[in-house]
Amino acid sequence: MKEKKILKLHHDAPTASHYGADGTFSRISSRYYWTGMRKYIADYVKNCAECIRYKATNQKPAGLLQTHVPAQRFESIAIVLFGPLPETSEGMKWIFIVEDCTTKWVELFPLKQATAKECALTLLN
Ligand SMILES: [Zn+2]
Repeated sequence: MKEKKILKLHHDAPTASHYGADGTFSRISSRYYWTGMRKYIADYVKNCAECIRYKATNQKPAGLLQTHVPAQRFESIAIVLFGPLPETSEGMKWIFIVEDCTTKWVELFPLKQATAKECALTLLN
């Protein structure tokens, strides 16, 4: 098969130095083209016995899972603005949503405007 010979020359030969799938594809695509070329090259490189045997993995070792353990309620909160909604008779158009990440407790506050000042005042109060 012609493709196999091309790959042997551009991947296995001592002058080709066993590039990865992208490198081998790049080198071959500058001179040749056939349908399904990228997949063929990727499969060939993936199954190359020498690459499997000698190439070091570039994956980092798996780390230990570190779960955040909250010390108390309201240690971390999530906030979001919802709106604009149809205006109420009091002129409220927004809902300021505050959730405690530890207990999942949710408080909703109606706001007239979605400004940082109004959100901060609501949060402090
Ligand atoms: Zn190889």
